[in-house]
Amino acid sequence: MKNKQPMSGRGVQTLAIHAGESPDPATGASAPNLVMSTTFVVGADTGFSVEGMNETDPFVYTRWGNPTIRQLEEKLAALEGAESAVAFASGMAAATALLLHTLKAGDHAVVSDVAYAAVSEATNELFPGLGIEITKTDTSDLDALGEALRPNTRLVYIETPCNPLLRLTDIPAAAKIAHNARAALAVDSTFATPIATKPLSLGADFVIHSLTKYLGGHGDALGGVVLGRAADLAPLRKKTAIRLGGAISPFNAWLILRGLATLPLRMKAHEENALRAAAFLENHPLVKKVIYPGLPSHPQHALARRQMRNFSGIITFQTANGRETAARLAERLRIIHYAVSLGHHRSLLFYLHGEDLLKTSFKLAAPKQRESWEQFAGEGIFRFSVGLEDAADIIADLEQALGQ
Ligand SMILES: *Cc1c(COP(=O)(O)O)cnc(C)c1O
Repeated sequence: MKNKQPMSGRGVQTLAIHAGESPDPATGASAPNLVMSTTFVVGADTGFSVEGMNETDPFVYTRWGNPTIRQLEEKLAALEGAESAVAFASGMAAATALLLHTLKAGDHAVVSDVAYAAVSEATNELFPGLGIEITKTDTSDLDALGEALRPNTRLVYIETPCNPLLRLTDIPAAAKIAHNARAALAVDSTFATPIATKPLSLGADFVIHSLTKYLGGHGDALGGVVLGRAADLAPLRKKTAIRLGGAISPFNAWLILRGLATLPLRMKAHEENALRAAAFLENHPLVKKVIYPGLPSHPQHALARRQMRNFSGIITFQTANGRETAARLAERLRIIHYAVSLGHHRSLLFYLHGEDLLKTSFKLAAPKQRESWEQFAGEGIFRFSVGLEDAADIIADLEQALGQ
């Protein structure tokens, strides 16, 4: 009982609860220890540089590795079906570490033209400033993706479903296009979670998640992770993660470990509530359009059915006068929090104004990119992260706040 139990062949709920964990050999504690120590007592043969570090070496310093963080990484790898995982202080720390690890001056990357706002903004400014060329493309348009690749393209970076549009990219097709050009494919799978989609099994080379969202699930800890092959992640940990220093706090790792135990159950409930809320919104007279991968009206519903085993809990919708409706909802909502972020047990809703986002975050050069944006976003969208409250209460709150 004291040693880790073999996890291969176990079901997803068993993995979510037990993978990466084992009773503490010193005390028999059943729940994982929270090890806050930043340093570890070592032997005189321990080196002071990470250069000679091996993954199996004893713990030295928490930025290099920590028992609680390792448990989190092992659980995440088991859930994603990945050989290896490196955890970070936030989703953005994971994304920027991956970009800096795979790209150097003179390289080119293709990045989804609509991605998490901070990823979009960093790839608009920070990375070109380092001599890394970036092309922003609608990666849901496979012809456009193919045309964006160049001889020096090293990375294709997609998000599916993408934040905030809920537009999907076909992962196996994108992997084929990237690999034909000898580029790696990275997928930000934050909206899907490993319960819906396992991008590595569909041909991706790297997966990233913001752990702050569904994986932590409770809105109380920032975190991020990069997952992939051990041969890729060992140098990423050594050369990028440790030296850039975006290490996750063991306390956050511990909170996220605890959140992960219920991920499969939570995702089922998020999907169930989101389907009910989406059906309510589709029938509401003030609502012009609802986008949810689980609705037959989603423009890529067939792809969603192919690629997602769970439609997750995020809905977008549009109303006739978005800013006015936003002011009313922020004022009147009682259960749903008018707030950014997503994937928490609490329902969260926030209005994203189209023209504002196009100024600050998304540079859509081609007319076709604008068309796709307008198809999904209209003049602006409410991003609604449907929580785990009773569906009837969520719907009643929306109904009273929307009014007529
Ligand atoms: C939130 C989010 C991120 C960034 O994660 P943080 O933990 O906030 O740094 C990246 N990608 C997606 C899709 C997100 O929703």
